[in-house]
Amino acid sequence: MMHGDLLITSMLERAENLFPEKQVISRTGEKVHRLTYREIGRRTRQLASKLQKSGLQKGQKAGTLAWNHHRHLELYFALPAVGAVVHTINIRLSPEHIVYIINHAEDELLFVDADILPLVEAVYEKLTTVKSVIVMTDDPLPETKIDSVYSYEEWIADGDAEFRFPEDIQETDPAGMCFTSATTGNPKGVVYTHRSTVLHSMSLSLADSAALSESDTLLPVVPMFHVNAWGLPYASTWMGATQVLPGPRFTPGLLAGMLQDEKVTVTAGVPTIWLALLKELDEGSYDVSSLRAVICGGSAAPAGMIRTFEEKYDVPFLHAYGMTETSPLVTVSRLKSHQQELTGDDRLAIRARQGLPVPGVEMKVRGSGGDVAWDDEEMGELLLRGPWIADSYYKDDRSEETFRNGWLHTGDVCTVDREGTIKIVDRTKDLIKSGGEWISSVDLENELMAHKDVFEASVVAVPDPQWQERPVACVVLHEDREENKEELLHHLEQRFAKWWLPDDVLFMEDIPKTSVGKFLKRELRDQVQQRYES
Ligand code: ADP
Repeated sequence: MMHGDLLITSMLERAENLFPEKQVISRTGEKVHRLTYREIGRRTRQLASKLQKSGLQKGQKAGTLAWNHHRHLELYFALPAVGAVVHTINIRLSPEHIVYIINHAEDELLFVDADILPLVEAVYEKLTTVKSVIVMTDDPLPETKIDSVYSYEEWIADGDAEFRFPEDIQETDPAGMCFTSATTGNPKGVVYTHRSTVLHSMSLSLADSAALSESDTLLPVVPMFHVNAWGLPYASTWMGATQVLPGPRFTPGLLAGMLQDEKVTVTAGVPTIWLALLKELDEGSYDVSSLRAVICGGSAAPAGMIRTFEEKYDVPFLHAYGMTETSPLVTVSRLKSHQQELTGDDRLAIRARQGLPVPGVEMKVRGSGGDVAWDDEEMGELLLRGPWIADSYYKDDRSEETFRNGWLHTGDVCTVDREGTIKIVDRTKDLIKSGGEWISSVDLENELMAHKDVFEASVVAVPDPQWQERPVACVVLHEDREENKEELLHHLEQRFAKWWLPDDVLFMEDIPKTSVGKFLKRELRDQVQQRYES
């Protein structure tokens, strides 16, 4: 067989050649741009030639601080095309962490949205490697005290729209970079290669995975700075799917409107986004019947939410699991053919699991006595390997804790049923150890969120003199519902052993969240502690 390098440029070239009229619809604020893949291709070539002219060398990095829009997509392709690395920066990290990751990655250039520029200005003096800032805006360049600053459109204007991509790029060259939002210490960097990105895009397009195809219209709610919007923009471009990039600070109403108006077929985001969307769908009047998949990952999808999407709105839900270190796709939850007959709760129980590893990813679940039995009882840590799984963190001596003996140790604890379907029961550090036995906070949360009065729920451990740790539930109710602790505990009692039941239920206005919308358990534990002390 021939050996051809798997390159990111080939994905864009396919869209340019075969789907030149298909569109990327990009909201940049008030304005909505409709660009064809022909135009995206020409603009990407212009940008790539300009990057080369500006002296950006192979292996060097450029950071992006940007929402989901067409210019960000152009950077996704143009930077790797010239052998450079697109480092997407999570704008919701603390300023200290943003400084750390820009300096650690040694970004030469920063591409920044106009509304995010103040964030960069505030820390600019601390950046040790950045030479220029390029502002992505439809309008004239805003006033700024940064000296070397350009407007994206003017900067690329003297680039060559017919530019031929360099041919000295290898598939193992670095192409992308993301940092995980570590809950302690500095964020850890992961570097993706051309090869890993292409293979990962292929996995997203498999029928038993997200089945992305030319006939899809994709709207990624997940930010392009969160694990490359889960790789969906790359895969969608390759397949020639229509893309709807929703831009800055959008509301649930705007999202529902775009899903309806652009007849979106696939959308993707974390559970908190879907809770907000369901509320909007409930209160407003939208037609979202074009949707064939709501992809949900980043945290466990509560079964109640899956049921509402599927039964109330007839929208198929797709629960997936992954992490920054894994590009991110690892598992997708689909019924096997022999399970198709199942109905009601039996069906839902499988759909709410994280699912089966996609082809290409190998898994092992390690308990205290070796590999766990596939009995859905024994818990162990999930270990992964495969061509789009990282083998180290970027220049970081914490790599050895996570990458051992050729396997990524995920820090996620799961069980496996006899079909090989995994169920994440917790992160190692969030499991609650009560009297020597483990309690899954995730299981309790999901069951609480299945209750009609509960909007959000998170369960954390509190120290206990007798049992070492005990669970406490923190609950946000839907509007105008009564606080009723006994009722919620009774609800849990139907499903769980008595010793699993939370010692207390605390009602809250909201639950603190991480930069990517997950429950921030560390802070929640502190809040709970403070409540008990006051
Ligand atoms: P961070 O580590 O910055 O939160 P990631 O997005 O890389 O960012 O998070 C990966 C983690 O998110 C996983 O290790 C797992 O704990 C959790 N996670 C992701 N998807 C799911 C899911 N479907 N169900 C449960 N947990 C999930």
